[in-house]
Amino acid sequence: MGAERVSTLADKLSGMFKGSVDGFAAKMQTVAGQRSVIDFLESKEPDMHGQVTALFNEFRKRDTLTKIIELLDTQKRSLLRLGDEALKLKVNIDSMAHRTAGQISFLSVGRFVSYKGSIYFPTLTPVTDKNKTIGYVIDWQLLNVTQQAIDQVDQLMGGNGRLYFGNDDAGFWTDLRKPVEKPAVDLSKLQQSAQYTGANGEAVIGSLRKIPGSKWLMLVELSSASFLKTANVFLQWVIVIGILLVIAGSIGGWVMVRNITGPIKELSNAAAQIANGDYSASVGVNRQDELGTLAGSFNIMAARVRSAQRGLEQKVQATTKELETAISDITEKEKSERKKDEFISIASHELKTPLTTIKAFFQIAVKEMDPGFKSFGLIGRAARQLTRMERLIEDLLDVSKINSGKMKYNLEDFDFQQILKDAIDGVREIYPNHNLVLEGSAPVMFHGDKHRIEQVIINLINNAVKYSPKADQVLISAGYKDGNIMVTIRDFGIGIAEEHISELFDRFYRIDVEHHFQGLGLGLFISSEIIKRHGGNISVESEVGRGSAFTFRLPVKEEQLN
Ligand code: ADP
Repeated sequence: MGAERVSTLADKLSGMFKGSVDGFAAKMQTVAGQRSVIDFLESKEPDMHGQVTALFNEFRKRDTLTKIIELLDTQKRSLLRLGDEALKLKVNIDSMAHRTAGQISFLSVGRFVSYKGSIYFPTLTPVTDKNKTIGYVIDWQLLNVTQQAIDQVDQLMGGNGRLYFGNDDAGFWTDLRKPVEKPAVDLSKLQQSAQYTGANGEAVIGSLRKIPGSKWLMLVELSSASFLKTANVFLQWVIVIGILLVIAGSIGGWVMVRNITGPIKELSNAAAQIANGDYSASVGVNRQDELGTLAGSFNIMAARVRSAQRGLEQKVQATTKELETAISDITEKEKSERKKDEFISIASHELKTPLTTIKAFFQIAVKEMDPGFKSFGLIGRAARQLTRMERLIEDLLDVSKINSGKMKYNLEDFDFQQILKDAIDGVREIYPNHNLVLEGSAPVMFHGDKHRIEQVIINLINNAVKYSPKADQVLISAGYKDGNIMVTIRDFGIGIAEEHISELFDRFYRIDVEHHFQGLGLGLFISSEIIKRHGGNISVESEVGRGSAFTFRLPVKEEQLN
């Protein structure tokens, strides 16, 4: 680092002194370029001699450091020499000439010469006319560096350096004040910079430069110790600054981490809280950057989740309440249904026994009574009412059997057509004034409970008669197609409104609320159960005021009972 610094310093200073050399040359050029000088060299006329002398004197007056100014011809003969006579100084012009690309040029400033305790140096300026050298102006100057200039250079070198000038043959050295000893170092090593022991015995780093345009060498020396000191101070500073930077970096890092991970931690805690079902979570990050936006969005989301959750809870509560009510309604309904079923079962059984006895008594009474007896007719009517009552009780018993799954079916093969006819005949006996017409036939052997099937047919024909108060015709059509027995009982009675049809086969369902027609609303329920148990189905088509048509289908080949 020190070597580099010395080298850089040497470069700077040599540049600076080259400027001085150029300045000397330029100054002399103003003299050498004078017409009178040229003319004198061309003509050598004695008249001109006076003019040139006047010019040189004028120049010396202005430039007090110029001790000798001399004009030479191309043969290096002195044509004019003004100044200190005692100074026997001579320039070796040839040593200052050098050839480049066939052209001869000259260095401006020559070697130092020490004479009687003072140091002098020459400036050589060729006089040219039409690009031809016609003579030379030599100016010998006293090396007189002012204290101010020395101070400036010292300052430039940081107070720890020394500057030496020497001739390019290294035969003379000066510290710009006085001649000094040749530096104790191999100068060829100082092209860059090198360490050695300086004049006062301390270690120095030096760097040597040739001053362009002159025969001067310049040596810059800086004390190594000062470097070490500077380097140590610098190192200390580097360490202190480094530590400060590390601390600042760590604090910055910590602040940054806190700044970023803090809010993220808060966010993740809040998210975990929500995930655990605590919807009250929110994040208190109040900042303007992306994290602030994220926290804001999170809080909005959390609020929405909260309100959605609250809404859901309310809905769930309401629905649960509705469900509870509905369930309790259903259980209530089921309870009352069960009670009703129990009652029907008990009542029908209880009624059946006395009725059977009464019926038996009536049969005896009718048998033993004289038909001429006044009340005989009444007894007959009472017997019919008993039969009706018996049928009602049978229906009730059937319903309770269906409900408890205890309905028994006595299966056998029977002639369906025969059963159909028997049923129609049975009803005809009860309703002799009605016209029951059988159309078509279903002469197939059917496997099932013939009494139950007959019960269905009778039931449907009974209804057809019962709900046709103003019509007396009932059409019964039977047929067999594709393995199915199809029977339709059609009447021309009051008909059934559309809205009742879906519930018609439910138990106890009656359209006739005012009870113009007798009945419990059980016949269709029992009939559809019987048909279903035989694998078939029952349906109705009806029009109010025009009549109804009940159709049931029974599959023949399939296994009907399940
Ligand atoms: P009910 O003993 O009342 O006749 P059903 O179960 O046999 O009971 O019939 C249920 C209801 O269906 C009846 O109350 C009646 O309103 C209606 N209904 C049944 N058959 C017919 C029909 N052929 N014409 C009109 N209405 C009918």
